[in-house]
Amino acid sequence: MSHENCLFCKIASGEIPSTKVHEDEEFLAFYDIRPAAQTHVLVIPRRHIATLSDCVESDAPLLGRMMVLAARLAEKLGCSYTGGETGFRTVINTGPGGGQEVYHLHAHLLAGPRPWLRMG
Ligand code: AMP
Ligand code: ZN
Repeated sequence: MSHENCLFCKIASGEIPSTKVHEDEEFLAFYDIRPAAQTHVLVIPRRHIATLSDCVESDAPLLGRMMVLAARLAEKLGCSYTGGETGFRTVINTGPGGGQEVYHLHAHLLAGPRPWLRMG
């Protein structure tokens, strides 16, 4: 069920190419085309949800799995929190007020040495 003219639906379907980090039945993760940090990955559900504000109670399991996937991908990419100064940032921008540019729900996964170019 892909939304016409949605960039990330087109990435999820393979119509527009991306550099994938992970894919499964429910989610896709790929490198941000304009990275703000050394590691900058986007995690998206395949199902089109425009924003976090559109999420309802029944989306809670999906949102939970999306965050757990982000944590697993941080491990895979070598930026997990393992003590000391390690770790990463997860960001979900919502609406123009939150700086959202692409209206298909996504979590940014950011890590690496400062400075970062912009907030993810
Ligand atoms: P947001 O501002 O939270 O909506 O973030 C959208 C992100 O998508 C930005 O960081 C963009 O750099 C990124 N982006 C836009 N087009 C593409 C693309 N074709 N492939 C990968 N990332 C993209
Ligand atoms: Zn979409």
